[in-house]
Amino acid sequence: MKLSKELETGITRRKFFKSTAMTGAAAFAMGAGGSELSLFAQSKKPSPKVSGKTISEAARQTRVCRTADVVVVGGGPGGIGAALTAARSGANTVLIERYEHLGGMGTGGLVTIIPNLSDLSGKQQIAGISQEWIDRLKRRDAVDHPKKEHWGSKDPKLVAYYENRSFFNVREKTVIYSVHIDAEISKCILQDMMKEAGVKTYLHSWGTEPVMDGNQVKGVIFESKSGRQAVLSKVVIDSTGDGDLLPYSGAEFKSDIDPSLRIANLSFSYWIANVDLKKYQDYRKTHAKELAEQMREIRKRGGHAGFLTSNLKDQEGLVWVFPRYANSSQVDVEELTRVEFLGRQEMLISHDYYKKNIPGFEKSYIVLTNPQLGTRGARRIVGEYLLTEKDMNTNVPFEDTVAVFPDVDRGQDSQKYPLTYMPYRCMIPRKVNNLLVACRAFSSNAVVNNFFNLIPHCIALGEAAGIAAAQAISSGVDLRKINIRALQASLKKQGAILPG
Ligand SMILES: Cc1cc2nc3c(=O)[nH]c(=O)nc-3n(C[C@H](O)[C@H](O)[C@H](O)COP(=O)(O)OP(=O)(O)OC[C@H]3O[C@@H](n4cnc5c(N)ncnc54)[C@H](O)[C@@H]3O)c2cc1C
Repeated sequence: MKLSKELETGITRRKFFKSTAMTGAAAFAMGAGGSELSLFAQSKKPSPKVSGKTISEAARQTRVCRTADVVVVGGGPGGIGAALTAARSGANTVLIERYEHLGGMGTGGLVTIIPNLSDLSGKQQIAGISQEWIDRLKRRDAVDHPKKEHWGSKDPKLVAYYENRSFFNVREKTVIYSVHIDAEISKCILQDMMKEAGVKTYLHSWGTEPVMDGNQVKGVIFESKSGRQAVLSKVVIDSTGDGDLLPYSGAEFKSDIDPSLRIANLSFSYWIANVDLKKYQDYRKTHAKELAEQMREIRKRGGHAGFLTSNLKDQEGLVWVFPRYANSSQVDVEELTRVEFLGRQEMLISHDYYKKNIPGFEKSYIVLTNPQLGTRGARRIVGEYLLTEKDMNTNVPFEDTVAVFPDVDRGQDSQKYPLTYMPYRCMIPRKVNNLLVACRAFSSNAVVNNFFNLIPHCIALGEAAGIAAAQAISSGVDLRKINIRALQASLKKQGAILPG
């Protein structure tokens, strides 16, 4: 073929555009950065060796599109925290996100809630970037939460009021600080924050594997419409939620989850709009028995009963439905596809029933299904420290505490042990260097993960990872040897709340 021959003899990019009609295939092979090497490599690539069950792919040249200090893979809560603090601490930072927006489950998963920010006394324990996100949303009237003066209140009237607004507002008959947020405005705010911090962001980009040199991580390979490319870096932070880089890094990880735990479930979430909630609430009060019977009927037909309300200004008619689905794995593409299909099928059964039978839903419609399926639990690293229940049943902080999580979901135990401390070591995988894991895959057993695999908690871990990475690079030491006091001081300076 004329084109490949010319390339073999060294055509320039300008000549290439001039001498071809630039077919789609040629344009793809050229890549966004116009690398001739990738096209050359493709033209030279021998056919893969095919056997019955596997194929051996030929070795190939992958274009390095950038070098950086820190690469963060995954732009969800953990990745947002990590990328922002790394960049704000002076590290040249790249963020790679597979979808077209930032926020992870907090936006694309329609999990529009930043909960458990205060403990049961009403004292705020998680702030930092979670609070910045909330403050920016507030400026656009895009949040709803109990008033500050009510956090920690046990006044039955206030408790009843806030509980009626949202399940997240009250724990142990006490008002706590939890925030409903707007997903779309959040996407805009998060991208603004990245731009302001100078984070080079690649959307539509799947981080596929780390670049390894022995047990040293040296960067990340990612795939996108621009082809397969690499970013080389001094530190990589896996914030994919699922720990996608772990299987290729040699890091040890676990994925056992007791099926009774919340994190064992996938969710297919969707929003129903134009609900007359006042009419529905009146019906609920006056026809409680009938409504209970109708909910049983929905379940009998294969649908899902129950929803949460948006509560945001001008979103009075919007409700969030989030059915849970048991599964054999949250990183098995066949399982993910099965749940997408089943979720949509059951959504129609549920909504059809609501619309025909439940007062308030007559004119409602399905406005949105989750742009990204709700995943809660996949891989968790085995880190330098593994959190277990004993770490929830103590009031003593770790020397290397980098985040403090209010413990509000364990009844009497929460009263006894109101805070759980997170050590920096729960983000460092054993045996692998230059890698941190800052997301729900932090080093913990499934029970602890089930309690603290929450949005602000993952942001807080990310914040610590980002600063730690920047400090390790600027002081030229291994991630395990950074100055913990300096890390804690920087975290506080950037708005985190820590003991002492
Ligand atoms: C239905 C549901 C309800 C929930 N309810 C609540 C709640 O009420 N409150 C609460 O705080 N938490 C809730 N959670 C949990 C919460 O969503 C998680 O704790 C939180 O989102 C975890 O953040 P993360 O950054 O670890 O992961 P994620 O939010 O999953 O973010 C990971 C990001 O990485 C990206 N990514 C993944 N793989 C790759 C890859 N290979 N390459 C590039 N990018 C990649 C994803 O697209 C995503 O943006 C709920 C979860 C679900 C599913």
